[in-house]
Amino acid sequence: MQLTLENVCKEYGETVALGGSDESDGRSGVDLDVEDGEFFTLVGPSGCGKTTTLRLVAGFEAPSTGSIRFGGREMRGVPPEERDVGVVFQNYALFPHLSVAENVAYGLRFSDPPGGESREERVASLLELVDLPDAGGRDPTELSGGQQQRIALARALAPGPDLLLLDEPMSALDARLRERLRLQVKEIQSTLGITTLYVTHDQEEALAISDRVAVMNDGAVEQVGTPQAVYRRPETRFVAEFVGDNNVFEGRVVSSRAADEFEESRDSVAVEGKSPVETEGSGWGKERDETADRPQRVELDVGGTAITIVTENAVETDDRVAFCVRPEQMRVLASGSEEMDGESSRARTGTETNVLDATVSGTEFLGESTRTYLRWNDRELTVRSANPLSGKVRIEFDATAAHVVDVERGG
Ligand code: ATP
Repeated sequence: MQLTLENVCKEYGETVALGGSDESDGRSGVDLDVEDGEFFTLVGPSGCGKTTTLRLVAGFEAPSTGSIRFGGREMRGVPPEERDVGVVFQNYALFPHLSVAENVAYGLRFSDPPGGESREERVASLLELVDLPDAGGRDPTELSGGQQQRIALARALAPGPDLLLLDEPMSALDARLRERLRLQVKEIQSTLGITTLYVTHDQEEALAISDRVAVMNDGAVEQVGTPQAVYRRPETRFVAEFVGDNNVFEGRVVSSRAADEFEESRDSVAVEGKSPVETEGSGWGKERDETADRPQRVELDVGGTAITIVTENAVETDDRVAFCVRPEQMRVLASGSEEMDGESSRARTGTETNVLDATVSGTEFLGESTRTYLRWNDRELTVRSANPLSGKVRIEFDATAAHVVDVERGG
């Protein structure tokens, strides 16, 4: 079933829980379209309005303004028990004095089982679905946190709801259990094909589990997209910094070359026997939109250092540009005592690669790699490397690895 939110705001007295301010100083509400059968996640920091959105959809609260529709039907005035939604919260909220089977059957208090099944049959098939077929006679307190949450999921699914709402269902579990449970939840969701709205503050979980995510900040939706799109092509600086590690730079445009000139320079680079710059096809975040501007090669002054980026955003001389480069797009050329000849911190002339000299300020061992924090020109950068780094480090990134997240007109 399709879920639509149109211009939804929620205020609690003076507190605006949902709805951002727009340029005309009015309030712009939240718009969302969740497709039938989609696994859709609201992700954002604490207090950004995720739970409020979910409670409005469940009918526990009424929106101050705006419309919520299930499959085109307006929900204003429809009480929660008539909305055909299943809800799972962070705390499993199972009844300790009821058996596991009785807890699942409690989900059927407002309705008969779907498809003509008896209550017993329905409970048995749900316990099968959540992979706890023999747990019916047990006491919920005998189960692990992950198992209890699967029982809570079975209870929510018991009446065969049109919509499944999950509010941080895994946040009370340890990391390993969370990873296992999210695979199970995703599998159950796709088996049933049930439209699902999932709330989490954990961006990694959101990327792993969702068909699409909405990144929320301060009561507003900043970006909606597939996990890949949100990670590779963040539309705002907030999204760039919230979703995964990122390096955000700010600079002033010194010069930019139009698309045609850029194409020529691409040819000349290729003629000189060096790799042409890839800006199309399966490259980093460059799934080209035919209507988008053609790439520009832009020279920036970033705190006194010349940096070259390639972008499809239209920019002009003196514009202030914020762009980001993911740590995995930064290559470590040399570190510690290794030779570092030549000029530091400059764009290599005639190529599309930027070289920066930085100093290690800290490292974190992550198992399969090491996250290293660097100081460069009074800002912190993050890179990934196979082995821990120390001392001075030379890194490089391609001009095409940069992704522009903000342009402020200069002059
Ligand atoms: P968290 O991840 O911490 O649960 P959240 O993104 O789910 O955060 P909400 O619970 O939706 O955030 O809260 C959004 C804002 O609305 C917060 O500033 C919160 O304090 C406020 N808020 C939520 N419920 C109420 C309420 N009943 N009365 C007053 N303010 C509220």
